[in-house]
Amino acid sequence: MPHRVDVKCPQCGSRAEFEFAEVCRIKLKTEVEFFQKCDQFEYRQFQDSCGHYWHGALYYAGLHGDPRVALENLPLGYAPSDWSHSKYLYRSHGMDIGSVHCESCRLRRKHSLNWPSDAYYSVSYKDSLLWAFNRDSACDLHDFILSKTRDVSKYRWSSFLLHVPTVFKTQKAREFVARKLFRLLAGNTRQYYSNSFQGVTKKLRFFSAPELKR
Ligand SMILES: [Zn+2]
Repeated sequence: MPHRVDVKCPQCGSRAEFEFAEVCRIKLKTEVEFFQKCDQFEYRQFQDSCGHYWHGALYYAGLHGDPRVALENLPLGYAPSDWSHSKYLYRSHGMDIGSVHCESCRLRRKHSLNWPSDAYYSVSYKDSLLWAFNRDSACDLHDFILSKTRDVSKYRWSSFLLHVPTVFKTQKAREFVARKLFRLLAGNTRQYYSNSFQGVTKKLRFFSAPELKR
């Protein structure tokens, strides 16, 4: 899962960005106080699978920015990059902790992700929910649903498309799902929807948020 995903703003329902927080283990008990008092961190006590407690320092890049820029004067043995996102699509923790930022209503606060219910690009069809992580993957999903060959290798989000449930790929679902996705993608851009919509998302991609690293 990417470190940033598009969600429905919990305040106004517009498209907002959720960014995962990163957590680092506090090595010494004497350092706990530093992280408790520092405004840029949130201190939490965690419990591992064996039942042992450990002290963690959480950093919300969505609230404070890139840790390599924002963090300084850390205790010895810690580097700001300890709280950077991995270049891969995984995190050091399996928690849904992060922050949400909405440009429409200016909301910016901590948020616990409830995925996929929070997903902005989501379509429900026959009691199943189809979703995409962000605008870019939603564009791929839209084009993939409409394509006749369904060749995932043609898309940037190929591994994600591999897991699209069959119910959304049926002939019956095809137009309904694509139309719903398109409406979410078009948003306020005043693009009209025509029957020959395939490829239209290429134009819509220009309205994308900054590219997310995968
Ligand atoms: Zn909002």
